[in-house]
Amino acid sequence: MEDSPASGEPTDAELSAFLDEALAPERLAAIETRLRHSEALRSRCAALLTQRDAGGFTLGEIWRRYRLSCPTREELGSWLVGGLADDRLDYVRSHLDVVGCALCRASLADLREEATQVNSTQSADRRRRFFQSSVGRLRPQE
Ligand SMILES: [Zn+2]
Repeated sequence: MEDSPASGEPTDAELSAFLDEALAPERLAAIETRLRHSEALRSRCAALLTQRDAGGFTLGEIWRRYRLSCPTREELGSWLVGGLADDRLDYVRSHLDVVGCALCRASLADLREEATQVNSTQSADRRRRFFQSSVGRLRPQE
């Protein structure tokens, strides 16, 4: 059970994302396991935390911290329906698959669910509107 590419030594950026729980669940679990067995990794985490407490953020950390690198919800929506321009397409894909941003993945799951509900909701809305207008004609004071 030696290193496969998916469970390699995490970079500082990954460790930082790990501390923010901003990694894909599988990667979070993999790093957690490594931390349990690696004294060296634990000291790297401790060093990162000390650095943060001292306000020594790298630009990358600031970006992640304030989610400046996250695509907008509209972009995620376009990505979902394949309507995103090529230059943003790669970015969003790597943000989701390589960075594994938990926030955007959750957003995307949410958008997907919305998308599957649209059809049934639309016809239900039509029925409801029809019904309400019929009722409205019968009881105009409401
Ligand atoms: Zn994101």
